[in-house]
Amino acid sequence: MTNRLRFTDSHCHLDFDALSHELPSLLEQCQQAHIHKIVIPSIGPRNWHKALTLAQKHSSKQLTLHPCLGIHPWFLNDLTADSLDNLAHLIKLNRNEIAAIGEAGIDRVIDNEQQNLAQQIEIFDFQLALAKAYSLPIIVHHRRSHQDIVAMLRQKQLTNGGIIHAFSGSYQQACQYIDLGFKLGIGGTITYPRAEKTLKAIKRVPLTSLVLETDAPAMPLYGFQGQDNSPLQLINVFQALTNIRLESSTEIAHALEENVKSVLPNISF
Ligand SMILES: [Zn+2]
Repeated sequence: MTNRLRFTDSHCHLDFDALSHELPSLLEQCQQAHIHKIVIPSIGPRNWHKALTLAQKHSSKQLTLHPCLGIHPWFLNDLTADSLDNLAHLIKLNRNEIAAIGEAGIDRVIDNEQQNLAQQIEIFDFQLALAKAYSLPIIVHHRRSHQDIVAMLRQKQLTNGGIIHAFSGSYQQACQYIDLGFKLGIGGTITYPRAEKTLKAIKRVPLTSLVLETDAPAMPLYGFQGQDNSPLQLINVFQALTNIRLESSTEIAHALEENVKSVLPNISF
């Protein structure tokens, strides 16, 4: 059924050790599975250069890799006094090469341990400002933080929107992001029967608002808990989505590609 259809993984940490140690053979398998584009979010200073060079080195005609630059809210302890300046500089230099800024965002679950919400807000705001200044999309990480994020997005009024990575939430929350020009990243979450509220939302939102992702090596699919996730699972996420939506598989596959193209215009097709 997936013959002739092509897929984009809009969020995969290919530079993490779990995936990077056998990258050529993994990418070969991705190609055979009709995955033709993979977006590599970065998490902070420690992997900015790795994401950039890995994308350059391992992109081929059949499968292109697209890095992002950003600071993930889990890794703020890595930051030094010049990290924000360095990020701004690297984004300026690579603004035509990167798919997006990210991943960036607010995570209120880690906040319980680290008490760093104010810093998370400051760093996310800085990245939103960069997204606005360079008309780049932004990939947004959220956990129990829809209210914070929606308020900040409304205030910032980005021109290019972005992707709400691993969207989970209600139909109303989904609509708030869609109204702000964002797509919803659909990954392994939809394979879990307990994700009832999210499944209902994904079923109802316009097809034009969805993009596929794996978040590999994180977020294993239902039935694969405890294992490293793989970008090859993208096809299973797609199958799960076709079970939820009413449109035909072909229609869904084409729409997903159009959606990612429109939200990440630096990914040339
Ligand atoms: Zn991620």
